[in-house]
Amino acid sequence: MTGASPPVSGLTRLAAVVGSPIRHSLSPLLHNAWIRAAGLDAVYIPLGVTAAGFEPMVHALRGGPSMAGINVTLPFKATALEMADEATKRARQAGAANVLVFREDGAIIADNTDGLGLLAAFAAQAPTFQASAGPVSILGAGGAALGAVAALLDAGCPQVRIVNRTLVKALALADTFGDKVKAFETKRAAAAFADVVAVVNATSAGLGTDAALDVPLHATPPAAVVMDMTYRPLITPFLAQAQTLGRTTVDGLEMLIGQARPAFTQFFGVAPPAGVDVRALALAALEAQS
Ligand code: NDP
Repeated sequence: MTGASPPVSGLTRLAAVVGSPIRHSLSPLLHNAWIRAAGLDAVYIPLGVTAAGFEPMVHALRGGPSMAGINVTLPFKATALEMADEATKRARQAGAANVLVFREDGAIIADNTDGLGLLAAFAAQAPTFQASAGPVSILGAGGAALGAVAALLDAGCPQVRIVNRTLVKALALADTFGDKVKAFETKRAAAAFADVVAVVNATSAGLGTDAALDVPLHATPPAAVVMDMTYRPLITPFLAQAQTLGRTTVDGLEMLIGQARPAFTQFFGVAPPAGVDVRALALAALEAQS
């Protein structure tokens, strides 16, 4: 167990996740478990905000000794990057920030740890996967896909194939990266799946009342790893189809945990303590929310 929350004091440091909606965010659960295990005088809270309220809120929170920083989630990641005074290369490449670190002097440093989270998820659940071993197909051409392309190219992937129902968006994304990234319309997914080492679902298909993603996963080689960034439910219809085909799968919850670890280190200056089973905590919370 991770123990009771320490009392809040005048020295307590604060971090938060900011987004809309925010009530189902698992980030407070993960970060507070690590805070307790590390014995830090800190608290991590959810902050729901309106579209118009995001920028004023960030300006109000920045600076001083108390606020370490914020995680940023939908739909504010691009705005978060624009607001920063400095940004890491990976945040600039992704065109979005999921981490804003607040320096005491009021400066905001943007980072994007989603790509690290993606690679950490593969390392945890498909340890033999190597990005450098062959092409990877990514379904979707939104912010999450953009971050995934940057992370995979950085990890040595020889070719990334963007597969999207709106070809023009896939082409635009591919153009920003150059020769190693190719665009495919979803109806040509089978061609994009041949000889891949992995397929990553970075679409929001299947959320809410939206139809689940329908792509020919059987066209992937048997050794291909199939990953889904969506983790509600943990085993999405997409991952279930991959498992039926015998493919190794990687889930979006592991990516969420993987992006949270480096964010925690940036907020609090120490790595998340080993030995805290945050995945079990998150699974229990997902179960309770469903
Ligand atoms: P965006 O809204 O920026 O992009 C959504 C993409 O999904 C677009 O390419 C869109 O295609 C495609 N899409 C939406 N509906 C369908 C559908 N019915 N069929 C086919 N394609 C569809 O979202 P993000 O990139 O920000 O996020 C994508 C997903 O990744 C979300 O579910 C998000 O929760 C998840 N995510 C998970 C993370 C994690 O840590 N596990 C981290 C970040 C994101 P089109 O261009 O044609 O509209």
